[in-house]
Amino acid sequence: MALTSSLLIGPDRLGRSVAVANGLVVAAAPPDAVRLPCAQGEIESGAVCAHTHLYSGLARYGMPPARPAPETFLQILERLWWRLDRALDVRTLRAAAMDYVARALLAGTTALVDHHESPNMIEGSLEILAGVCEQLGVRALLCYGASERNFGVAEGRRGLDECRRVPSSPLLRGLVGLHASFTVSDDTIRAAGRLAEELGTVVHVHVAEDAADVADAVARGYPGPLERLERLGALPRGSILAHGVHLDGQQVRRCDELGCWWVHNPRSNEGNRVGYALNLGCSHRVALGCDGWDADMAAEEEALTRLARIHGDANAGSRLCNGHALIAERFAGHPEPLQPGAVGDVVVRQGGSVSHVVVGGRVVVADGVLCTGDFDSIAAEARQQAGRLWQRMAEI
Ligand SMILES: [Zn+2]
Repeated sequence: MALTSSLLIGPDRLGRSVAVANGLVVAAAPPDAVRLPCAQGEIESGAVCAHTHLYSGLARYGMPPARPAPETFLQILERLWWRLDRALDVRTLRAAAMDYVARALLAGTTALVDHHESPNMIEGSLEILAGVCEQLGVRALLCYGASERNFGVAEGRRGLDECRRVPSSPLLRGLVGLHASFTVSDDTIRAAGRLAEELGTVVHVHVAEDAADVADAVARGYPGPLERLERLGALPRGSILAHGVHLDGQQVRRCDELGCWWVHNPRSNEGNRVGYALNLGCSHRVALGCDGWDADMAAEEEALTRLARIHGDANAGSRLCNGHALIAERFAGHPEPLQPGAVGDVVVRQGGSVSHVVVGGRVVVADGVLCTGDFDSIAAEARQQAGRLWQRMAEI
């Protein structure tokens, strides 16, 4: 039952059913629909992770700590993530993405908004990620995060060019990625805006994750990174801005006027000690991401609830749900999940655990088991490739 063109899920224990045909939720199941019974379960929509990094998927397999221990956010990037991304090759990237996506699906996350970087393997990297997403059956928005931090302007141009190469598919859409304002020139930002317009898509970029991004934009003569991206034409409607920790309420609200999305990543922000994104509460367009942490969105939401309470943030409630509207914009679906016209991404839970997962009408997890790949083999390959990756990182 791995691949079906139409599917009738339910009825569940509350008597609810959802029908999917041609990848979308429909009001009534076609007569030939395959049935996925779940009399003891409860139907819900698949979760959306609105910002993450599949390339970090091997970190769970014993990533050595950065030495010397980082004291600032920039040192965390320089000593850890910017070493890891330079060390990636075909096998390590593929193994990381396979493990990450498999675990996401098993956790009931049906859509991932990815931001990729592998500076020593730019060309072809998105094809690897696209292949993994297609094989395992997750919905994804993919981009290469263009940056000039390793090899200058040419690196930025190659990063943007790679964004053209996301294969067309019902499960995939391409975005135009920029790493962050502080690692790109004005020309690369302008080129990103032009490319997004040419491709009919939006920009995905880290904004004001740390105060260093703000200080850099100010030093370049802009009020901040958001204003820099806007003035240089790189924020088409629907663009996806990760973090927004170091912005005031007025700056955050500007995102609503532009029709862009903020993505709050509470576990990552806490782990990197960059602060809590309190002012995101000034926007109605905030989704939830996990920024490379495992894409278990129930765990991310739990962290959000805990941190929102600590920081007196009363406006954080709807973020997980908002991811559906973000995905609907890119796939031209109904913004309310499980409604006719919405993408056919459905999860059945039984006793709180994920039992079945359907993405675009394809059953990808049944009875808690991944149907589209052998999870034990995926994890074993990830463990093996992780050893190679730590070795390569040590040599870089
Ligand atoms: Zn990120």
